Amino acid sequence: MVIDLDKCTGCGACSVACMSENNIGVLHDETDKIRSITWMRVYQIDNGKSFPDTEVAFIPRPCMHCQGGTSGTPGQAFFQEDPMEEAAHTPCVSVCPATATDYDEETGIVSQIPTRCIGCRYCVAACPYHARYFNWYDVPWPKGTPRALSPFVSPRMRGVAEKCTFCYQRYQAARNKALVSGGEVGEMDYQTACTEACPSGAITFGQLQNPKHKVHQLISSEYTFRLLERLHTNPKVYYMSKREWVRKKADNYVTRHNKFAQAAPQSGH
Ligand code: SF4
Ligand code: SF4
Repeated sequence: MVIDLDKCTGCGACSVACMSENNIGVLHDETDKIRSITWMRVYQIDNGKSFPDTEVAFIPRPCMHCQGGTSGTPGQAFFQEDPMEEAAHTPCVSVCPATATDYDEETGIVSQIPTRCIGCRYCVAACPYHARYFNWYDVPWPKGTPRALSPFVSPRMRGVAEKCTFCYQRYQAARNKALVSGGEVGEMDYQTACTEACPSGAITFGQLQNPKHKVHQLISSEYTFRLLERLHTNPKVYYMSKREWVRKKADNYVTRHNKFAQAAPQSGH
């Protein structure tokens, strides 16, 4: 996924589309905002200058779908033979004691199985992008609204952790269709809800490795960067901005000339 921060207006349509697509509930009131669940969250940053030189940018933040090492095996990232070796890792997968969260080698998607989750919240603590959410409450679905829920996504129960799945259910549907027709999953056959909903076209989704896909071309731009690259989480979400201050404001900004930024994604969307 590539998100163009110069196009993003901060409208929040991606957030709403994500909630709707994935049966994310809304709580009774706003008294407990820090426990609200927003798989796709829009952050606001500014250039720190006073009016009239103030500039604002918005950073939509889905799960980064951090690239695992060779297999995403628990503990792998922390027990390498050579501690100086630079290996990518998926923090939430490495720490989960219940294998409730997993790195899918085929798609590169980090998935979550709520019914396996024991609610220890290690993943919440380990995720450097705050992309993990814990269900503190049973969602109070008002009368009649359950009928409007998507039948393709299970509503999660209280006491488990959850996260953005790059709308994995859409991938499954596209893959099944491709299996029946004998073809392949095309770029436009599988798009996430946030990508479709973005009115300014700021989000582009596809296979990073596939030269035919737009994202593949976009990530070679000198204006692309990823968040917290020095943690070797190797995110599959890239951002781009022609504004230098926006790129610098992203945590631990490193240039494309930095060796970490040169690390190409190994697989997946
Ligand atoms: S961004 Fe957080 S939740 Fe997503 S894969 Fe990385 S560590 Fe896991
Ligand atoms: S809260 Fe659930 S998914 Fe997260 S680490 Fe614990 S068992 Fe694994």
